[in-house]
Amino acid sequence: MSITSNLTYIRNQIPANVSLVCVSKFHPDETLMEAYQIGERVFGESKVQEMTGKYERLPKDIEWHFIGHLQSNKVKFIVPYVSLIHGVDSEKLIAEINRQAAKIGRKVNCLLQVHIATEETKFGFDEPELIQFFENGGLERYSNLQICGLMGMATFTDDKNQVKREFIHLKSIFDKLKVTFLSQNSEFKELSMGMSDDFLIAIACGSTMVRIGSSIFGTRQY
Ligand SMILES: *Cc1c(COP(=O)(O)O)cnc(C)c1O
Repeated sequence: MSITSNLTYIRNQIPANVSLVCVSKFHPDETLMEAYQIGERVFGESKVQEMTGKYERLPKDIEWHFIGHLQSNKVKFIVPYVSLIHGVDSEKLIAEINRQAAKIGRKVNCLLQVHIATEETKFGFDEPELIQFFENGGLERYSNLQICGLMGMATFTDDKNQVKREFIHLKSIFDKLKVTFLSQNSEFKELSMGMSDDFLIAIACGSTMVRIGSSIFGTRQY
């Protein structure tokens, strides 16, 4: 299957109110450019050095989404150009993004990552931590950071019911935060959930943004 036909197939399954992030990590520039030529402009990467290299080489109208685990000491490399950071998983990281963004007078769009899977290896806030963050005025404290919503990854399992339960859980946390702390905040609107194997379940559970890699570009060579 070609990238063009894969994309057509995927795009046909995604409703207009859900956006697509083409996850291009570990793929070479030519592969991204194939998707670019047919109109894709939003690409997701998980390594700072790889994303920055691609940003420098590829067309400037691409929107770069950082979807990996971001280390504080690397924030400064992506803050000048990144259009959305999906995996913001600690207040320490929030503070560093805010500090680097303030230095260059930018406001950086972020999603707070929520830990919904059973694997301990996955990252993210839990619900009480998020509530505490907003109760303590987290939103006002970091004015160079725009919190646009939440992101989560389901457990890696064949059990579709478990995946569905985890996405429903994330959507319920999103709704609760929205009504309790963010009802006046029109920027808080994105729910990034769903990958190649589970994006249809995620969309049914209220996802507004899916991150799809292997179903578009094929398997990755690590
Ligand atoms: C790699 C990755 C994806 C894409 O996964 P596929 O299964 O290839 O679609 C989505 N989200 C995150 C956070 C990833 O690291």
